Amino acid sequence: MGEFTLELNEDQKQVRDWLHGFAADVMRPAAAEWDEREETPWPIIQEAAKLGIYSLDFYAQQFFDPTGLGIPLTMEELFWGDAGIALSIVGTGLAAVGVLANGTEEQIGTWVPQMYGDATDVKVAAFCSSEPDAGSDVASMRTRAVHDEAKDEWVLNGTKTWATNGGIADVHVVVAVVDPALGSRGHASFIVPPNTPGLSQGQKFRKHGIRASHTAEVVLEDVRVPGHCLLGGKDKLDERLARAREKAKAGDGERVKNAAMATFEASRPAVGAMAVGTARAAYEVALDYAKTRVQFGRPIIENQGVAFQLADMRTRIDAARLLVWRASWMATAGKPFTSAEGSMSKLYASEVAKEVTAQAIQILGGNGYTREYPVERMHRDAAIYTIFEGTSEIQRMVISRALAR
Ligand SMILES: Cc1cc2nc3c(=O)[nH]c(=O)nc-3n(C[C@H](O)[C@H](O)[C@H](O)COP(=O)(O)OP(=O)(O)OC[C@H]3O[C@@H](n4cnc5c(N)ncnc54)[C@H](O)[C@@H]3O)c2cc1C
Repeated sequence: MGEFTLELNEDQKQVRDWLHGFAADVMRPAAAEWDEREETPWPIIQEAAKLGIYSLDFYAQQFFDPTGLGIPLTMEELFWGDAGIALSIVGTGLAAVGVLANGTEEQIGTWVPQMYGDATDVKVAAFCSSEPDAGSDVASMRTRAVHDEAKDEWVLNGTKTWATNGGIADVHVVVAVVDPALGSRGHASFIVPPNTPGLSQGQKFRKHGIRASHTAEVVLEDVRVPGHCLLGGKDKLDERLARAREKAKAGDGERVKNAAMATFEASRPAVGAMAVGTARAAYEVALDYAKTRVQFGRPIIENQGVAFQLADMRTRIDAARLLVWRASWMATAGKPFTSAEGSMSKLYASEVAKEVTAQAIQILGGNGYTREYPVERMHRDAAIYTIFEGTSEIQRMVISRALAR
């Protein structure tokens, strides 16, 4: 018989069960408290660091799982535990990926370990791309980076917004415009090292959900960073800009834009996996409740009106996971996302999470609407998945463009 299988191997099962234990025993019991406090749960990040769950090594290992499932399995379990706390744990990874994608080996070796710190002194990192006038429309970015050749320093000015860990991070990765004529092809990423003068936290947002995760503006006023903080280095930047200018001259703008969008495809299944985790968590609470809550002399699950909802919830969660696994496998196997399969997985899983968590509230009735039960928090948390890392509308744009090509 052929080799196709959806069976997890022993290593994967072990890691999944280990993470599940942490999610169930450490994260879930703390979830309501940190949601109310709206603060970064440092003690839990420290605990995760001690166990090796908050560490560069752990994420690198999962990233290099040859089946592609290491990251989705990790995300699903942690976000099953609690989305806000989980984002505090994996948010540094966003910044790390920014360096891994664009940095030289030396930059990766210098900055990525610093982003995590160590178990006795944990640090977090932030990835700052979005701006008040450049959300979905990344090409409208205004933060400028100007090279001061005499000193070989870059000078950054602008305001970033919505930065996860913005202002509380040690290392910030900042995307800025180096050539305004080239749209998103004229952007470059910079490391802003710890305690660099001129970088400050603007307003911290009070949010609907994932409230244990810190989200804030980051203001850059004449922030000077050394030349070696330009990710990828100056020669590579100059080459890339020259190529982009040639293409722009040849009227190849649209293809250039599509290529830029394609780079996000590979990270989107990870967000889909987060959504699957939240959806599964709410579904499990609703299933247990439906089996034990008695009305009209029998458990409410004995009414088809309730049981069919649960059947649909479970079916859609499993479908979402399969889309996530497919896209993750494709990314690892180097298969091209010809139909924007990464975006498909994020779009579907995030919409499922929003709907399934709402259904869970309905199944719990009045209790579902209170903070005595976790499903209202899960519903608030789930609303983020259709917004960040590209809204659902942007995913549909990417998918439909891929289909129309
Ligand atoms: C909690 C949180 C954490 C975040 N973390 C980070 C982070 O760490 N780093 C970072 O850089 N960013 C981060 N973001 C930013 C996030 O990626 C943006 O919010 C997102 O890209 C949407 O941008 P926007 O909020 O400006 O919405 P807008 O782009 O203004 O969109 C508003 C609405 O218009 C729709 N829309 C826009 N354009 C079109 C179109 N062409 N066709 C159809 N509909 C359209 C959108 O889908 C949306 O429904 C975070 C956001 C949040 C809320």
